[in-house]
Amino acid sequence: MRGALIGCGFCAQNHLNAWRDLAGEGIELVAVCDRDRRRAESAACAFGVSNAYDDAGQMLATEKFDFVDIATRMDTHTELARIAAEKGVRVIAQKPLAPAWDEAVGIVKTARAAGAPLAVHENFRFQVPMRKLKALLDSGAIGALSWARIAFRTGYDIYALQPYFRKEKRLAILDVGIHVLDLARFFVGEVDRVSCETQRRSPLNAGEDTATMLLCHRSGAVSIVECTCEARVDPDPFPETEVVIEGEKRSVRLAPGAVAHLVRPGGRETIDFNSPLLKWTERPWHVMQESVLLTQRAIAAAWNAGREAETSGLDNLKTFALAEAAYAAAASGRAVAPLEFESY
Ligand code: NAD
Repeated sequence: MRGALIGCGFCAQNHLNAWRDLAGEGIELVAVCDRDRRRAESAACAFGVSNAYDDAGQMLATEKFDFVDIATRMDTHTELARIAAEKGVRVIAQKPLAPAWDEAVGIVKTARAAGAPLAVHENFRFQVPMRKLKALLDSGAIGALSWARIAFRTGYDIYALQPYFRKEKRLAILDVGIHVLDLARFFVGEVDRVSCETQRRSPLNAGEDTATMLLCHRSGAVSIVECTCEARVDPDPFPETEVVIEGEKRSVRLAPGAVAHLVRPGGRETIDFNSPLLKWTERPWHVMQESVLLTQRAIAAAWNAGREAETSGLDNLKTFALAEAAYAAAASGRAVAPLEFESY
């Protein structure tokens, strides 16, 4: 598969490392593009990519690709996905797919109409501890799930590397909350209604920087989903997500350090969910960096097998709908049912 990366900023560095690792698996990144030409050229040079562009339209008109990987910010995804899909090129788009529901649905519809598979780079569910936890749940070890708490709480200075966060009108839910909501779906299943309280705890932020959400799942299970970058915690678990899931037989707690504690009446078992560092990963970022590679590998493998990606555009709309429901619930003070998209 011949691919092109669009956007060579902060997040794209992980994509570039991951595509380089995946070169041995029949995937070749043959072009990079950034509207800041120097960024594109320096990425091409550092990662041995043949061609650098500063205009995605020109790049797609010049070369043939099997996929494009869009690692720009959400407000550019509609246009970039459209020009790729209209050429029949498969699209991977970073999360959040778009700034709002209608635009996200529009991207999915455009890709469908063009017959171009679309996947969202939703990587938290591909973190090794999350895959191992899911396998544990699927094994029946804790029984039917009844309650969960999934929390991304940190005071890490995320603004240093992504200063644009300060100006986002939709911040905590759409940036990191969407990952945590996706984990809630991944572990506990689809959701009937969402309640939410948001806070803006830092006066430097334009949008909400803290969200506390309550999800009623279709199964009857309940989960609490939390996200903030304004917590003051020591030790700070950044960038790990803490998960507690209670079932009819046992409970499991995924603690910082990728250690899971499986608790049953009268006993506790500790399971290490750590994975070794890759050449380009480092702690504490490792769990995130590695998940980028695992997400890209999973998407490419699904497409090679003629399947939709696990995090296809359609699947990701279900997660996006939870984020939209959380905003609506916070604004109205009421529980809100997630929006549904038409089935195509
Ligand atoms: P960034 O601003 O650092 O990088 C974006 C890059 O895209 C910039 O270099 C910019 O010049 C380029 N760009 C913008 N429009 C373009 C266009 N039309 N054509 C070509 N290049 C264009 O942003 P970032 O922090 O890397 O975030 C990018 C995306 O990655 C966001 O959607 C963000 O939410 C997501 N992200 C995801 C994770 C994750 O764990 N999944 C982590 C960080 C960021």
